[in-house]
Amino acid sequence: MAVFRNDRLCRPGGWGRLEDSLSLGEQPKLAANLSEALGGLHEPPDDPPAWDPPAPENRLPEGTCRALVERLGSDAVSTDVDDRIAHSLGRSYRDLLRIWSGHLGPVTDAVVYPRDEEGVAAVLRLATEHNVAVVPFGGGTSVVGGVDPLAGQHAAVVSLDTMRLVHVKIDAEAQLADIGAGVLGPDLERQLNEHDFMLGHFPQSFEFSTFGGWVATRGAGQQSTRYGKIEHMVSSVRIVTPRGAILTRNVPASAAGPSLVQQFIGSEGTLGVITSAVAHIGVVPRRLNFTRSCWATSPRLSHWSAIWHRPNCRCRWCVSRMRTRRVSCSKPPQVDRH
Ligand SMILES: Cc1cc2nc3c(=O)[nH]c(=O)nc-3n(C[C@H](O)[C@H](O)[C@H](O)COP(=O)(O)OP(=O)(O)OC[C@H]3O[C@@H](n4cnc5c(N)ncnc54)[C@H](O)[C@@H]3O)c2cc1C
Repeated sequence: MAVFRNDRLCRPGGWGRLEDSLSLGEQPKLAANLSEALGGLHEPPDDPPAWDPPAPENRLPEGTCRALVERLGSDAVSTDVDDRIAHSLGRSYRDLLRIWSGHLGPVTDAVVYPRDEEGVAAVLRLATEHNVAVVPFGGGTSVVGGVDPLAGQHAAVVSLDTMRLVHVKIDAEAQLADIGAGVLGPDLERQLNEHDFMLGHFPQSFEFSTFGGWVATRGAGQQSTRYGKIEHMVSSVRIVTPRGAILTRNVPASAAGPSLVQQFIGSEGTLGVITSAVAHIGVVPRRLNFTRSCWATSPRLSHWSAIWHRPNCRCRWCVSRMRTRRVSCSKPPQVDRH
């Protein structure tokens, strides 16, 4: 199998890009530590694993495929087998087992790449007419089967990849940004940083997950203790449903009725496709301090109590999710950003 998701997830049997692979031979100290902890080590098998699964059946009626191509253009509709497989798996251990074993389970019948909201609306309209299920696909880092192409009562499944919905419009005065659903974490922070802003949402899947995916899954990041979870950052959402688009009101705060925007946050594709959302952005701190800690022995009780303490700590510069007690709360940042 070729690369995953164009050049986004390049390791079909693991995490990260192929060029970032870590050879144990190049890291003797790490290899020794891991070997001791695990009772022996082997170099991992070749990546991608050598397997040749049978081409999955395609249930998408020809007429439906033709209608999608007519509406979106031929470069926005793919029935390529690798593409279909890549969009049928998340990144959980179960997904890795599916790919390693060759027992893939359900595979999506086609992948569509709409360029804009009208394209998304057209896919949902056609899917409704042709009894086809649509599964939104951001970065495909779901660990809970969120991108599994389950047809249910439908004739076929189409995965809707948001990778072309990538605008970032900054309103510096209001400190808000209108962000396309398909923007990947690093691209988003880079564009905001260029204007001295940041979002501050850093899930561990940051490199490969999308803004729309964060909103759709009500994500939490390593800096959520300081900057808030994604639902605290988003002020309005634009979502396309089979019956049309909904834009929730973009107001600083509301004291009236239930919150529609909060209904859409965490909806995981069940209520429609989030095409964009407006989020509060903050000014990049003058100083950033990155630390990491590891301990050679099993964590002692005192370490665990330090870890539990951290998520609730709201002191000014503490934005890490987990640290050992060796790092004091009152320790000021050490490293100048500029
Ligand atoms: C190594 C690793 C570390 C992780 N760390 C974290 C973490 O720290 N914090 C955390 O919260 N999560 C974490 N996750 C889980 C996952 O990365 C998050 O859920 C992430 O928000 C998913 O984003 P995505 O773009 O990859 O979405 P996908 O995996 O593509 O989709 C996730 C779900 O949202 C739906 N969806 C995606 N985009 C849209 C859209 N535009 N509109 C409507 N529905 C949509 C999909 O249909 C699916 O149900 C981690 C996963 C991995 C593999």
